[in-house]
Amino acid sequence: MQNFPGVGVSPGRIVGPVRQMPRPLSEPPAGEKRAPGTTADGAAATLQAAAKAVQAELRGRAAGAAGDAKAVLEATALMAADPMLLKAAVKLINAGTSAERAVWEAADGVAAMLAGLGGYMAERATDVLDVRARIIAALRGVPAPGIPASDGPFILVAEDLAPADTATLDPAVVVALVTAGGGPQSHTAIIARSLGLPAVVAAAGVDTLPDGTEVYVDGAAGTISTGPGDRERAAAAAWAANASTLAAFTGPGTTADGHLVPLLANVGGARDAVKAAAAGAEGVGLLRTEFCFLERDTEPSIVEQVEAYQGVFDAFPGKKVVVRTLDAGADKPLPFLTDASEPNPALGVRGYRTDLSSPGVLERQLAAIARAAGQSTADVRVMAPMISTPAEAAGFASLCAAAGLHTPGVMVEVPSAALTAESILREVEFASLGTNDLTQYTMAADRQLGPLAALNNPWQPAVLQLVRLTVAGAAAEGNGTPVGVCGEAAADPALAVVLVGLGVSTLSMTARSLAAVAAVLATVTLKEAQEIATLALRATSPGEARDRARGKLPILDELGL
Ligand code: PEP
Ligand code: MG
Repeated sequence: MQNFPGVGVSPGRIVGPVRQMPRPLSEPPAGEKRAPGTTADGAAATLQAAAKAVQAELRGRAAGAAGDAKAVLEATALMAADPMLLKAAVKLINAGTSAERAVWEAADGVAAMLAGLGGYMAERATDVLDVRARIIAALRGVPAPGIPASDGPFILVAEDLAPADTATLDPAVVVALVTAGGGPQSHTAIIARSLGLPAVVAAAGVDTLPDGTEVYVDGAAGTISTGPGDRERAAAAAWAANASTLAAFTGPGTTADGHLVPLLANVGGARDAVKAAAAGAEGVGLLRTEFCFLERDTEPSIVEQVEAYQGVFDAFPGKKVVVRTLDAGADKPLPFLTDASEPNPALGVRGYRTDLSSPGVLERQLAAIARAAGQSTADVRVMAPMISTPAEAAGFASLCAAAGLHTPGVMVEVPSAALTAESILREVEFASLGTNDLTQYTMAADRQLGPLAALNNPWQPAVLQLVRLTVAGAAAEGNGTPVGVCGEAAADPALAVVLVGLGVSTLSMTARSLAAVAAVLATVTLKEAQEIATLALRATSPGEARDRARGKLPILDELGL
């Protein structure tokens, strides 16, 4: 039996076989020539055969798929034998280029051409690049990139996952996620929670397990072990039985003594919003507007933006919806706002700061939000990401006022904002703690780096102190400015209790976590939550803070959380 300790980021206990995610393919060197002795005709025939094999494989998978996944696979299969792509590649082969390099460059050309056409055609550009990677994998005789195909359910193991890797992830087939890298705030963690899949990140060495090895994953404890026995199988069965109880949230969020804590959803667009409303969310605490436009090279028009926001507002008539203005940069670059060559993008021109480098984009976004809000009954509020000074908060509030948006807020995710909360909150109507970035900046630990996962943990007492200071700043400011949390910390039921004890008034999370957070919150009074928060604050390590809080919350073990 082998154990792989990591960081648990999404609860759940499961037994199943692992499948390794193939490593990304390297680019064939620029100027790579056909190997001596290979003819142009021979190289072209090899390429054609690889393309045909890729098409046949994708068609086979499409036949067995349904819904969105089927459509994606069919479109990609068509692209695999695209005559324009193959003709351009053969032309390069005839001029002496290697088959791999030829298909690489030909695909770049086709993708750029499609992107230039805009609209539906532009969306096909990613299919071309996907097909290119598959053809190159076939030429090299290595597994194709992306989620492996499988007839049965499996536990996906990867170094880390990017949003694009998970576009076709089917939670009926991929039953848990385990990564050797990644941190608690990484995309893998966010995706796992939104799909309700057990997940463990930063489990060093797990990427060496052979495909098919049976393992037990405990997403709450953050452990993976091989050779599961009766005890592990029974724990997995108990989790499966409880999972259905934890799937239902009927609201409202409240402590045992009736102190209301609205439980809101984090969404990335209308689709998520519809799901969140169906899951019982009391509103939206964070609309990540950049997620609506991640694939875009150019600024979306006001009309496109109105449509995107309206879809979210319509899912929550009469309810609170907090729209965050574009938070481009670091792990979420938007080519029309951020500079890909910055040496240190997490500390760069990102979030609200892009208003300096690209003036006008924020005004147009606020105009679009105001127009969409005017056509809906949702209670729309706006907040700016990455605010660091009172002057920035004041600047944002005046842009909002000019757009006719009268409830401006700020995210508190830079330590300076927590430390000067009193002055910053005087300028706005509400604050929302972004604990993902607040943790990475407080601990100076990149939220995407697995080796720093222990530092990058929102249970760090230093982070809890900054939460406390933010709430204290809001109280000192005197206007009763509410402080919510919309970072991933809110989705951890034990940490949610601590946050409520520290005085935050709303919690916003992936819709999947609402029921678990509500169930645990309902077992403590506000006074008990305050006592648990004090215990956590006085701890000297994140592990101690977590253990102290969990020790007071027996419900967590009962529910397998
Ligand atoms: C955060 O930083 O906590 C947050 C909610 O914003 P994002 O995860 O989108 O950076
Ligand atoms: Mg953030």
